Amino acid sequence: MQNDTSDITRDRPTSSLTDEAAVRRQDLRDLDDAGLRELLRQLGQPAFRARQIEEWVWAKNASSFDEMTNLPKTLRAQLEERLYLDVPTEVVRQASADGSRKYLLRLADGVTVECVGMPSRDRLAVCASTQAGCGMGCAFCATGASGLTRSLSMAEIYEQVMHVRDDFGRRVTSVVLMGQGEPFANYDASVGALRKLNSPDGAGIGARHLTVSTCGIIPMIMRFANEPEQFSLAVSLHSAVQRTRDALMPGVKKFSLIHLYDAMGDYVDKTGRRPTYEYALIKGVNDTDDELGALCDFCRDNLAHVNLIKLNDVKGSRFQPSSDARAQEFVRRLSSVGVVATVRNSRGADIDAACGQLRQNVGRRSIR
Ligand code: SAH
Ligand code: SF4
Repeated sequence: MQNDTSDITRDRPTSSLTDEAAVRRQDLRDLDDAGLRELLRQLGQPAFRARQIEEWVWAKNASSFDEMTNLPKTLRAQLEERLYLDVPTEVVRQASADGSRKYLLRLADGVTVECVGMPSRDRLAVCASTQAGCGMGCAFCATGASGLTRSLSMAEIYEQVMHVRDDFGRRVTSVVLMGQGEPFANYDASVGALRKLNSPDGAGIGARHLTVSTCGIIPMIMRFANEPEQFSLAVSLHSAVQRTRDALMPGVKKFSLIHLYDAMGDYVDKTGRRPTYEYALIKGVNDTDDELGALCDFCRDNLAHVNLIKLNDVKGSRFQPSSDARAQEFVRRLSSVGVVATVRNSRGADIDAACGQLRQNVGRRSIR
């Protein structure tokens, strides 16, 4: 195990937002295309400068105006007066023996978020956060335990992916919004980030390789089904028995399993895409025969793919992971009713792999 917590801090600058002028300036990444064009018009600049700037920001992931060498120096100075260009600072990087790397990044206001890069032969998958903390309060989740700090902006979600790309020096081939936070409690920023990751002017990642994972906020699932892009959807189910699910996932109590079932039926009808159901197996809680029967009923005949996850240890948690034999029994029973199920290969098991754990553990060592 190569558990490298030696603070491999990137030498990128953090903008000093403490000075008043910086607070008044706007983050360039929060400016949309129309806003940027208007600013350039006011500065008497030709319209093509907008494309040049956007290429630096989104495709090249520039961290300062000085890098934008095809812009006149005077324009760079004018931009600097009005805008800031913020990139997160790496606080911690942990490298796992299997090649995956987990990062804790500090954002402009000092808030920290986690992301993970998982390489395989010719692929690089990234898991990004959509919020600092989470307000949904799932009983088994390290992020849920700490509550919500704040939602991230579109740029802050996008930036995590670019940070991993630049660290590996490789193209990112897929992204899952499965780090900290509930993407559908921060819908516009999360879907906006996917859109930018998909765009040829951004990271150029195929829509089917961009996945949202939600705890099941039904109105947003319905909205997502109507998005024009072919993004993928994963739903954290964890139990198909109402009482168990209510206890495990109190934040989605108001969205009943029956409604979730109907909404997912509509999603499949509308998109024709196969949703994934996440199911972390917890000994004696959601791995009983009754629970398995309910899961089979929920998933049969509706294109479901079930991802059985080995529960990650969360410090102070009362939950234990189920045995491997039990997980295999789930796979067997689900496949006997025609449901595809896989046991998720837990990458980075030797680092703080569970969502929220790195932040939690580093927090104890008092890094914000
Ligand atoms: N909020 C979203 C996405 C982030 S959580 C959601 O809940 O789907 C990403 C995934 O990690 C979810 O499937 C979540 O249920 C799972 N997860 C959380 N804590 C876990 C733990 N201790 N062990 C295994 N999986 C966990
Ligand atoms: Fe939030 Fe997802 Fe964790 Fe639940 S599992 S607390 S929704 S991050």
